[in-house]
Amino acid sequence: SAAKSRYRRVLVKLSGEALAGDKGFGIDLDVIDPIAKDIAAAAAIGVEICVVVGGGNIFRGMMAAEGGIDRARADYMGMLATVMNALALQTAIERAGQTARVLSAIPMPTVCEPYIRDKALDHLSKGRVLVFAGGTGNPFFTTDTAAALRAAEMECEALYKATQVDGVYSADPKKVPDAKRYERLSYAEVLKQDLRIMDGAAIALARDNRIPIIVFSIKNQGSLALELQGQGASTIIDG
Ligand code: UDP
Repeated sequence: SAAKSRYRRVLVKLSGEALAGDKGFGIDLDVIDPIAKDIAAAAAIGVEICVVVGGGNIFRGMMAAEGGIDRARADYMGMLATVMNALALQTAIERAGQTARVLSAIPMPTVCEPYIRDKALDHLSKGRVLVFAGGTGNPFFTTDTAAALRAAEMECEALYKATQVDGVYSADPKKVPDAKRYERLSYAEVLKQDLRIMDGAAIALARDNRIPIIVFSIKNQGSLALELQGQGASTIIDG
């Protein structure tokens, strides 16, 4: 196709909630399918795509820790939850006609490949979409931080943070009708104003490796490919 992307290789961060649909928990295939089609469409314009999936729709370590499971163990449970999401997403991406591989930070070789950087790069060069599971493999981290980490390791040119709104606004656009969308923010502004786009560790890692974060909406079908071609609405965090 004649479509041109501004980036050659990007990482997309999908939170667990994005896969859950209206119920807010579990995996909703009706919700995953259009997201997978978006990813396949973006790959079809020649962009190499890495995805990091969250697990909050199935399990959150911090909440479980409050309920009595110690934090580190609860976090390992949370990381396992991301593997389920990754397998569901792989299935949907393949159903959309695009090959995909799941690579887990926690080795479980009968389920999916363990994450090995050189192998991951090899998959990318063969046109496969990568779905990174298991977060960073360490407790006390988040999949947002895993997204920044993998984006740096894979030498991605941008980190696309999928949300339910098409960028960062001056106020909640659902409550304040004339809230304005920022076109651009600096990492420092995001950290200082505690804008809660991603956790601080993720923002700092992206900043230190000069990876721009692009906040966009995954709710509108086709938005990823549009965004990659510089036509969608979003907020870019860089500088
Ligand atoms: N988690 C972790 N280390 C990581 C990534 C995730 O311990 O590197 C655990 C943590 O308990 C977290 C859960 O996995 O609550 C699910 O990940 P996250 O909350 O980032 O998912 P999301 O909010 O994106 O759905």
